[in-house]
Amino acid sequence: MKILVCDSISKDAVKGIKDLGVEVTEKTSIEKDELADEIANYDGIIVRSRTKVRSDLIDKTAGHLKFVIRAGVGLDNVDVEYAKRKGIEVINTPEASTNGVAELTIGHMLALLRKIPQGTASMKKGQWIKKQLIGNELGSCVVGIIGLGRIGRRSAKLAHCFGATILGYDPYVKVELGLDVEMTELDDLLKRSDIISLHTPHNEETHHLIGKEELAKMKNSAYLVNCARGGLIDEDALYEALKGGEIRGAALDVFEEEPPKDSKLMELDNFICTPHLGAQAVEAKNRVGEEVVKKVASRL
Ligand code: NAD
Repeated sequence: MKILVCDSISKDAVKGIKDLGVEVTEKTSIEKDELADEIANYDGIIVRSRTKVRSDLIDKTAGHLKFVIRAGVGLDNVDVEYAKRKGIEVINTPEASTNGVAELTIGHMLALLRKIPQGTASMKKGQWIKKQLIGNELGSCVVGIIGLGRIGRRSAKLAHCFGATILGYDPYVKVELGLDVEMTELDDLLKRSDIISLHTPHNEETHHLIGKEELAKMKNSAYLVNCARGGLIDEDALYEALKGGEIRGAALDVFEEEPPKDSKLMELDNFICTPHLGAQAVEAKNRVGEEVVKKVASRL
């Protein structure tokens, strides 16, 4: 079996795949044209989010490629249906980063509520403004979780451990979650939550799920967190809502354009962010690597 690694995965994962007797080629900065020329030489490719596996690339596989492994969760960089039609299996590692993303989500909630970034920034300017940085406890908040899949459920569970009351909205979850979550409609969640956190995939249905109208329904004292995908929030509308005091603050790990170019959000003190760090934990990355090796082994 021959595998091309198109985006970097852990050294241990590469070694683990080689130990299976697989021929591994690593080209972790390969560009579209070179990949199109070479893809038909491999049985499988391994990608993260950098490499886009679109229909034009899939057409170059000439029936040879058998699988695409996306080391991570989101499949928005792979045309999954088109690949399936061409007989190519698309495999991801959905469980590996669940806890890492959920913990970052809680981190952003706490940072917003307790003004940790503002405290750091002010002290580095030589200030001691403790009276201006009075916050709130997560345990006293109503937390609204939109999307109760793996990460949404884990975030709900962690927030519940702090004592928060949890509201949930997910039109596709029909089964009993076994969690202390009051499932409700989106409008109700928007109106009642002190913190709203997004955990849905990004697709046509969820594009700008939170826009001007939804922001207007939120409490003026509410916070918004997005550690899922850029594009779920209309960033122009978010800027206006934060600037105009329609909501109190927001934290984003993901952006419509990454890295964001000239984003006006960066001007605002009530906006905090991280550069798509959800899965950037050593433990999560190791778990991704281990899962990738298992997926390759099962295809031998
Ligand atoms: P998942 O598939 O387990 O859960 C997604 C949930 O969203 C499902 O329960 C689904 O029913 C629900 N959903 C779909 N459409 C909805 C809608 N219109 N309204 C409300 N709910 C809706 O996915 P997951 O593993 O929990 O991942 C959640 C998100 O986190 C994804 O967008 C994923 O790409 C992202 N993610 C981000 C990072 C990061 O680095 N920040 C890392 C991993 C995953």
